[in-house]
Amino acid sequence: MPGFHKLSLEERLKIIKEFSDLTKGEVEQLKGTGLEIEQADRMIENIIGTIEVPLGVATNFLINGTDRIVPMATEESSVVAAASNAARLARKLGGFTAEVSETVMIGQIQVCNVSDMKAAKNAILENTAEILRIANDQDPVLVKFGGGAKDLEVRRIESPAGEMLIIHILVDCRDAMGANAVNTMAEAVAPFIEELSGGKVYLRIISNLAERRIAKAKAIFSKEDLGEDAVDGIMKAYSFAAGDPFRCATHNKGIMNGVSAVVLATGNDTRAIEAGAHAYAAYKGSYSPLTSYEKNEEGDLVGTIELPVAVGLIGGATAVHPVAKACIKILGVKTASELGEVLAAVGLAQNFAALYALSTVGIQRGHMRLHARNIAVMAGAPPELVEKVAERLADEEKVRLDRAKEIVKELTKV
Ligand code: NAD
Repeated sequence: MPGFHKLSLEERLKIIKEFSDLTKGEVEQLKGTGLEIEQADRMIENIIGTIEVPLGVATNFLINGTDRIVPMATEESSVVAAASNAARLARKLGGFTAEVSETVMIGQIQVCNVSDMKAAKNAILENTAEILRIANDQDPVLVKFGGGAKDLEVRRIESPAGEMLIIHILVDCRDAMGANAVNTMAEAVAPFIEELSGGKVYLRIISNLAERRIAKAKAIFSKEDLGEDAVDGIMKAYSFAAGDPFRCATHNKGIMNGVSAVVLATGNDTRAIEAGAHAYAAYKGSYSPLTSYEKNEEGDLVGTIELPVAVGLIGGATAVHPVAKACIKILGVKTASELGEVLAAVGLAQNFAALYALSTVGIQRGHMRLHARNIAVMAGAPPELVEKVAERLADEEKVRLDRAKEIVKELTKV
């Protein structure tokens, strides 16, 4: 969608409305009348208001052969532009291929004070079918959709409070994120597990390390577009993250700039995804980048990403927030796994864009040009002058409040 960013707000909304078949009401909700205070009052406690976050769309995403417009809710400038630009570059060699392994979440049951660990473990494993039956009785709807508790794992862990028996119930959550479903099941099976183990159950809760709900994506960026130096620069940037946790934290933060923005736009749980991503990054030993890069035989850059995607289209805020519902419609995903594929593609795009800029011109040039608008507003520029002030600041390479105030004063002088 070349030139989309240069269109007026009304022109952009017209295109999105047509592409995604939005109703007039949905368009109005996108414009900011989205979440009524009465709806918010039913979502959390002690409501006193709502807070708006900018909602943009990343363009150019081709994922598994399907064109997608990707809604992103974020307060940070440059994120949407960077993702769109990376997606444009990825299109040339086929866009993103992405897949999600399965939709299984883990419910943990912590059993302490077990006198015979081996016997307890055997008793629990022997009664797997009964434990799964109790779990599945809690959620006939999930079972009807082909999901539900499918298997058990029993682990022994060392802890500061001594050895514990940890039971994992593996629940296929289909199109739900699954925390409520899994937590209900974990609580329901706990008394039977206490009986079988002779121990005492304490915690019964989902794990956000969703290692059985992994999305992978891949894209190839052409050497002709990037230039050989940039390909080498990105490889060096990736190696820096792979070798240094200080850099790696920021590398993965950049990935989550994109991922969390889509998670928020679709009404999903940003903390669940963030916790899962960082835990997964550290899961195999040292804290590692969620993306990796290599050069193929042609010298093109091949980027891949792997991260857990505990998101849903059913339940949570996704089901009740009108703007989240409109965002799902814009995205056009029909299953939670399709949403997971989008998250992986966006994470890879975001990371590629950051490494490309960082290893060549730096990110501040583009970033400050966009940030200049915020500085102009802070300096008191009236709406009709914001663009003009921002442009002057960027051209002068002085994106600073003091300079912005001077320019505003000069332009508003009568
Ligand atoms: P939910 O309970 O609102 O909805 C899920 C239910 O929808 C399923 O249990 C099932 O009965 C039903 N359903 C209907 N059609 C379905 C389909 N096609 N596929 C799957 N289920 C279908 O929501 P949830 O996903 O169980 O829980 C998500 C919420 O839990 C989020 O709001 C999250 O913030 C919150 N939460 C998260 C954590 C955590 O991440 N640690 C802990 C507690 C709560």
